Amino acid sequence: MQAIPLKNFTIFLIPALLLGATGWFFPQVAALPPGRLELLPFTPYLTMALGTMLSLHFHRGRAFFMFLVLAAAYWSFRVHLRGAPTGITATVLFQAVCVLVPLNIALFSLMRERGIATVAGRLRFAFLGLQALFVGWAMEPGHLVVQQFLSCRFTESHLLGGLLLPQPALPVIVLGALVVAGRACMRQSPIDASLLGVMTAFAVACNGIGTEHVTPVFMTAAAAILTLGVLKDSYNMAFKDDLTGLPSRRALNEQLTWLGRRYAVAMVDVDHFKKFNDTYGHDVGDQVLRMVASKLRGVGGGGTVYRYGGEEFTILFPRKGREEVLGSLEELRRTIADYQMRLRSTDRPSSSREGKKLRYGSGQNRGTVSVTVSIGVAESGGDRRRPADVIKAADQALYRAKGSGRNRICT
Ligand code: GH3
Ligand code: MG
Ligand code: MG
Repeated sequence: MQAIPLKNFTIFLIPALLLGATGWFFPQVAALPPGRLELLPFTPYLTMALGTMLSLHFHRGRAFFMFLVLAAAYWSFRVHLRGAPTGITATVLFQAVCVLVPLNIALFSLMRERGIATVAGRLRFAFLGLQALFVGWAMEPGHLVVQQFLSCRFTESHLLGGLLLPQPALPVIVLGALVVAGRACMRQSPIDASLLGVMTAFAVACNGIGTEHVTPVFMTAAAAILTLGVLKDSYNMAFKDDLTGLPSRRALNEQLTWLGRRYAVAMVDVDHFKKFNDTYGHDVGDQVLRMVASKLRGVGGGGTVYRYGGEEFTILFPRKGREEVLGSLEELRRTIADYQMRLRSTDRPSSSREGKKLRYGSGQNRGTVSVTVSIGVAESGGDRRRPADVIKAADQALYRAKGSGRNRICT
């Protein structure tokens, strides 16, 4: 198993900051003027309504259903609970919600994005509706098996003694949080990352049901975290390339409007990539693009890499001249050319003839392949006033690199 790079955890930064801010703000809630405090119970609804509208607008089905779940949970608390649950009906409701919401958060983090007004969306509506019916049924007197399960206690440990959360909810929350965190790290999706924040905020909101203001404040936090996740996800859609995770061409265009007067641009193109695709298929082609992207990402000299399109990449070096970046680029070119990418056995070409046709396919070991890139560099200044002119000059240099034999840098 590959270790997860530390950088993969940065997606949790925004949810963590929001949770931290809520924790810091909470002690000051009681001191708010009475007029504001009266509104507090409604802020979760307002935040959820905003989030629901955004998820509808951006077609984020999983977030949409999560908002429904949160709204239903909060609504049921407002209707049946005033402070800590008393009486069998309120207790069963509280316990069931404490188990089901984290379970749904974990399940929805495992699901794929399948829309709202689709068949899958309708099934998800039905799935949530059934759970609501189940909770209603369990709340009726006489359904002892469910009620006993929900109030069962595994331990009388002092550590858990102070918790209001029912004990059956604890493994669901802990295991659910692990599932969500793993999923978020793997997918690098802001919505999945926000679900971990939602899980935490929801657990705090439930556990604090007996303490004034805790539930509305942390339910608002949960909804706000998910809303930010939806926004960040839509932002990524526009500015991040799906295949390589690099900033997209749109992000490059955006960045170009911010550049100072002095900068250098490198255009990078994979050599004979079409032939590579034809021999090994698009899947391996995609794998190569990801590999090249990950090498490019490590470029020195303060460069930022963008996927320009297809198998072409752009590296932007702010405040740098052509000569200053050549060293970093040469290192990059060599790193990529030297890298032997392992093929899974299913990736190998079906006939050895096909394998041999490939000019750069590694001769000795058919289990690995290597690729080379050509690079064209240009800098701002002279008659190149607009960024588009600099990119064009870098492109022309790239053509020369291709013409003079590939696997090289031209300026
Ligand atoms: P050259 O050395 O002159 O650059 O040759 P080339 O074959 O790399 O150049 P060309 O531009 O003709 O081919 C680019 C190929 O890249 C065409 C297309 O099949 C492939 N390609 C573009 N985008 C993707 C992608 O996202 N995934 C995969 N697998 N292939 C892609
Ligand atoms: Mg090309
Ligand atoms: Mg190419």
